[in-house]
Order: sequence, then structure tokens, then C-alpha cells
Amino acid sequence: MSLASVEIVTTALLITTALVIILLERIFPYRKGLPIFREGFFVDFVWYTLIQSFFLKILIFSYIIYPIDQHYHLSSLHIVTNWPIAAQVLFFLITHDFYIYWFHRWQHNSKLLWRTHEAHHSNKEVDWLSGSRSHIAEIIINQTIEFAPIILLGANPIIVPIKALIDAMWGMFIHSNINVSLGKFKKVINGPEMHQWHHADYNQVFFANFSTKFSLWDWLFGTAYLPDFKPEKFGLYYEYPNDYFLQHVYSVKRMDENKLRGNIKWHWYFYWRQDLMKWVKKNSAFKRKYKKYKAQILVYLTDKYY
Ligand SMILES: [Zn+2]
Ligand SMILES: [Zn+2]
Repeated sequence: MSLASVEIVTTALLITTALVIILLERIFPYRKGLPIFREGFFVDFVWYTLIQSFFLKILIFSYIIYPIDQHYHLSSLHIVTNWPIAAQVLFFLITHDFYIYWFHRWQHNSKLLWRTHEAHHSNKEVDWLSGSRSHIAEIIINQTIEFAPIILLGANPIIVPIKALIDAMWGMFIHSNINVSLGKFKKVINGPEMHQWHHADYNQVFFANFSTKFSLWDWLFGTAYLPDFKPEKFGLYYEYPNDYFLQHVYSVKRMDENKLRGNIKWHWYFYWRQDLMKWVKKNSAFKRKYKKYKAQILVYLTDKYY
């Protein structure tokens, strides 16, 4: 199968999975009454999922990983090239998941690294899309560490879209608002029942449930937390900006978004979208009027000249 056809198939599978998860969230909700267009939906979808991931993919592959390979020619050693595809996928899946467990745990234990991770915890309502909210620095670090070995060890190029699809599907699943228990498998496979707790605003989970794909790491290293009741509060215990850019500014410099919103100098920044919409509406109203008058003018001209 060529790389292009694998990319088409993985994209189709990604969209299908998202739709199925959204449907399951409606039928079997973990928390009842959560709307599809919850608070922060558009920031997560437009800024994090579409725009940020598009630009970071270019940065990570074209400006970090490929230049490293061009310099050191590691992929020409073909270290994993001859492994079966399934073995390659499994190898990168497990090794990266082990790394991400420890890095995630470090992010919760370091004040500096927490600044790269708090965005991910800032949604007050957790659903299939919430996982997409990740600070730029967090994505650059984690995806470089994830995809560099795939390229540098000479893996089959189709491993990149396959791995990206597995990440996206698993990410949507563990954040989803689906009331599902994995039974015995919960000791190995991560799911919403553990990761929803990780996003809960409870002291006892700030240092628990760090796993992404395999909950095994949490059970193995003593950080699993799964009581027999559900959390009621989610997100951060402190105020956090709603705006995408201010979320990134906030990681470097703490400020009050509401104060900025009330500041006349910042009016243009917060209201340019509303102003643009008003302008569009005004102009479309003008066009409608113009159409009406155009017909009258035509009648007038017709009467006059014929
Ligand atoms: Zn976390
Ligand atoms: Zn999460």
C-alpha cells in the first residue's frame, strides 16, 4: 500500500472514529447533559486541532526531524526497516507510551514543565475533543520524541500516519464522555474511566493516572487512582484564559484575561471577530437593499426608455 493511500485510509478512519465516539457520548454519557458545543469547543477545534497541528507538523518534520536525518544519515542504517509492519507499530507504540508516562508525570511534578501542560487540563468539560488542547511546547517536545525515532531508525514511511491515527483515536477515546468500563483490561489498557479522573479538579488525582494508552504504567508504578464514584469538578483550580493566544502568553507571564478584556487598548484584539461579523452582516444587508433598488431602477429604466 502506498503512503498516499494509507494517508487517505487513516484520515477516513479518523473522521469515522470521531463520529462514532460523538454518537456514543450521546447514547452512553459518562456525565449527563454535556453539550456537543461545550465551552471551549471552537478553541479546541479551530485553533488546536486544525491550525496548530497543521503548522506544528511542518515544523516538527521539515525543520527538526528531517534536518537531523540529513546531517547524521541515521535512517540509511535501516535499523528497523526489515521488521514486519506490525512489529514496527508495536515497538514505537510501547516505547513512546512508556516515555510519555514519565514525561507526563514529570510535567505534574515540575513547576516549569507544568506551564507546558496546564492548557491540557484547562477544559472545565472533558469530551472527545478535549485532548487536542495541548500547549505548543508540549507538542513540539512530545511529537519530536515520538516521530524522530520512526524516521531515524528507518521505519517504513507508512508507520507515521498509522501511528498518528492510533494516537488520535486513543486520545479521543480516553478523553471521551463515554460511560464505559474496560473490566479486567483496565489494568493494561487506558480508557475514559481513568483519564476522566486525571482531568478532575481533585487534589488526590493531581499526581495520578498519568498513562495515555497503557494504564499498565500507572498500576505498575503506583499512580493508579480509580474509586467507585465519578468526579464532579473538572479542569484547573485557578482562573485560566479562554483565548488561544493568551493561553500561550499565560504560560510565560501570568495575567488576568478579564482585566485585559476591559482595557480599551485591547478592545480590537478581543472584538475583531465580532466587528468583522458586524461588517459582513452590514454589507450583506447593503447588498440585499441594493438588489431591491436594482429591480426598481430596472423597472424605472424600462418604463422610461421603452
Ligand atoms: Zn496531566
Ligand atoms: Zn488528557
